[in-house]
Amino acid sequence: MIRLTNIGMSYPVEQSRVSVLKEVSLDIQAGESVAVIGPSGSGKTTLLLLLAGLDHPDTGSIEIQGTRLDELTNDELADLRRDRMGIVFQSFHLIPSLTALGNVTLPLEIAGDPESNAKAADILRRVGLDHRETHYPMQLSGGEQQRVAIARALVHSPPLILADEPTGNLDKETGRAVSDLLFELHDNLGSTLVMVTHDESLAQRCDRQLRLDGGALVEGCVDAHSA
Ligand code: ADP
Ligand code: MG
Repeated sequence: MIRLTNIGMSYPVEQSRVSVLKEVSLDIQAGESVAVIGPSGSGKTTLLLLLAGLDHPDTGSIEIQGTRLDELTNDELADLRRDRMGIVFQSFHLIPSLTALGNVTLPLEIAGDPESNAKAADILRRVGLDHRETHYPMQLSGGEQQRVAIARALVHSPPLILADEPTGNLDKETGRAVSDLLFELHDNLGSTLVMVTHDESLAQRCDRQLRLDGGALVEGCVDAHSA
């Protein structure tokens, strides 16, 4: 499903560049669930942005389902994200002029799904927001906005789910409901799940745990250094 080969990534800072990822290689099989853990600033979000084709590595290659991302145009990357990925960012990127239901319905409408309203309403109910369908993002709390963003990312049952601290803004109970939904899609549809999380018990629910440390990715269990 995912193959990273010798990924190097740096950001320009003042006159030089700061290296974030160094020689990162990784294979993730279709249907696997993988937790990415590591201290703040270790490059977890950067790794997800690269997987989504929203940023490009300095070196190395990324393949998603056999397609090399660096061989795609920006339009083709956008199509790939729309059709095959569900992406949950730390910032929610909701459309302010659309209601909760409108935000979740949009990806289905773009895809021409005749059942878009029913499917969107169903997934909003499953994240506990059926009573907020007609609310606009600015009328919702941070946790509610996060749940709308998660519903929108998952409503088209994508084969690849990329989630950046999906339960980070949620109380324990809501976080549990949202992670149950993520794992349910993963289990029932065989979606591949790559999730950045600080939550140790959530990381342990994944098939594998990977830790980013000093720009390198190591297979490893959750430990005291991961939080
Ligand atoms: P994490 O998600 O693990 O907290 P990030 O991937 O967001 O880490 O960031 C890794 C490092 O790269 C941090 O030191 C951060 O400051 C830096 N960084 C991230 N994005 C940019 C950017 N657009 N420009 C410059 N530096 C960045
Ligand atoms: Mg981050």
